[in-house]
Amino acid sequence: MNDYIRLIEYLDQYSISVSNEQIDLLDGYYNMLIETNKSLNLTAITEFEDVLVKHFIDSVSIIRDIDLNEKISVIDVGTGAGFPGMVLKIIFPCIDITLFDSLQKRLTFLNGVIDNLGLNGINTFHGRAEEAGHLESMREKYDLCVSRAVASLPVLSELCLPFVKVGGRFVSYKSEKGTEELTEASHALSVLGASVIKQDVFNLPDSDMIRNLILISKDSSCPKAYPRKPGTPAKKPL
Ligand code: SAM
Repeated sequence: MNDYIRLIEYLDQYSISVSNEQIDLLDGYYNMLIETNKSLNLTAITEFEDVLVKHFIDSVSIIRDIDLNEKISVIDVGTGAGFPGMVLKIIFPCIDITLFDSLQKRLTFLNGVIDNLGLNGINTFHGRAEEAGHLESMREKYDLCVSRAVASLPVLSELCLPFVKVGGRFVSYKSEKGTEELTEASHALSVLGASVIKQDVFNLPDSDMIRNLILISKDSSCPKAYPRKPGTPAKKPL
């Protein structure tokens, strides 16, 4: 528990308390991450303190801008080893979350974590965002889409915004290049029916790592043509 004091104090600043059980869940996740990482490439960051700040605190840093103490539907596009989605689910059990990725091996790891920790209201989905964004069961079905380290913002907007309900939000976890990417994404956002709410730039605690959370609102339905077929958003960004 003491090992997690930095996270506990971070959350406390936003009046969010975590139980011992939640810390145990996070620790169970950490142990599975490190163990599985020996045979499957999940993360380059493995030292406990680094994981605590650069994965766990970073994942929850969205609380600066978004209230997650509500039963909202969330999708984490390109979740990889579960960042930020798995951490958000453990800290905010009331959210309903889909961890989405195109790499089945990572989802198999995440399914193991879900089973082992006995989590509810969380599922994984395997696919390419370019295809899943057209599925009736997923298109414009989520209150919130989050995504970290998947693609540049013009590309990512096309991959993520189709999942978001009209009136919902998309939060992109960017770093130093966030502002530049946002300028480049202005055409994509207007084509996809979205607009910027704000950028939130800050340092992760006791770290020189800069995080730029870009908050985007989905104002109207995405035209049916988007997302384009797999690979096209990256090859020909909007
Ligand atoms: N979000 C995690 C993080 O921050 O640690 C993982 C980042 S990893 C660099 C990018 C992930 O996005 C990979 O797991 C990859 O399989 C997934 N991905 C990339 N393009 C995708 C697409 N078009 N549809 C679904 N997943 C995609």
